[in-house]
Amino acid sequence: TTIDRYAVIGHPIGHSKSPAIHRAFAQATGQALEYDAIDSPPDAFVATVDRFRASGGRGVNVTVPFKLQACAYATDVSPAARAAGAANALKFDGQRCWAENFDGCGLVRDIRDNLGQRLRGRRVLLLGAGGATRGAILPLLEERPACLFVANRTVSKATALVAEFHAAGAPNSLQGGGYDDLGRGDRFDIVINATSASLTAEPLPLPASALHPDGLAYDMVYGKGLTPFLRQAQAAGMRQLADGIGMLVEQAAEAFAWWRGVRPATADLIRRLSTPLT
Ligand code: NDP
Repeated sequence: TTIDRYAVIGHPIGHSKSPAIHRAFAQATGQALEYDAIDSPPDAFVATVDRFRASGGRGVNVTVPFKLQACAYATDVSPAARAAGAANALKFDGQRCWAENFDGCGLVRDIRDNLGQRLRGRRVLLLGAGGATRGAILPLLEERPACLFVANRTVSKATALVAEFHAAGAPNSLQGGGYDDLGRGDRFDIVINATSASLTAEPLPLPASALHPDGLAYDMVYGKGLTPFLRQAQAAGMRQLADGIGMLVEQAAEAFAWWRGVRPATADLIRRLSTPLT
């Protein structure tokens, strides 16, 4: 019998924590599988996936820059992946290829279950209007926040994104605009940075008056310590700060459960992979 094979495909891929996470899950749940990292040339995603399938691949995680192509590649696209316009996990079954997006689900699980912040009835601010925001909107709305405001530097991108979700049936609690719209109305209880500004250590034009001191500031990037965004939130008095390592581990656990039918525990692994926010 051959061992079931999985992989993460991206470009570049050297930094990926996914192999370590999935191998830890496999060990903890007693599942026999292999999990590798595959660096695909940017213009050869389809060929890379086809080759992996032909060699016995059962599923892949997909990361930058292939999440959109992964959605187009699949024969069956889940509602979450369709709404996000992107997939972060594929499952192969004969000629069929199923696409899923677990990023938003991982975010919600981390905030709700690991960080203990209720989302229902709260005012949530989501910064950025790129792929990460796209994937987060529906899972966040499912928690029934009082308000989900998408703010973006390029304001038109936020308003267009929100209009697209409204057209698909999203409630009026979803709103969009620019950073200038913040700080005038009520404060936000939960502020999520889904911009790529933390990768380059850029601060955001975020007014302190928009942030609730009892709230949570969540940066989707991980391993960067106290980012300018988290520093701004701390300066505004926000008590709870988190980076995106829990989101990464939770989306991996969702994919693992989808592939293998058993959901691994995540708390110990998140603790092990966490880096100090200083
Ligand atoms: P995109 O490139 O699709 O979007 C980037 C967004 O950031 C845009 O809205 C852009 O605004 C905004 N932005 C970039 N620089 C600045 C700045 N200096 N000031 C204000 N806004 C800025 O990125 P993704 O959505 O794919 O990823 C966003 C982040 O989320 C990344 O850091 C990524 O690492 C992280 N992530 C983490 C995951 C996890 O598991 N923890 C999973 C997925 C993503 P504009 O439109 O004006 O250009």
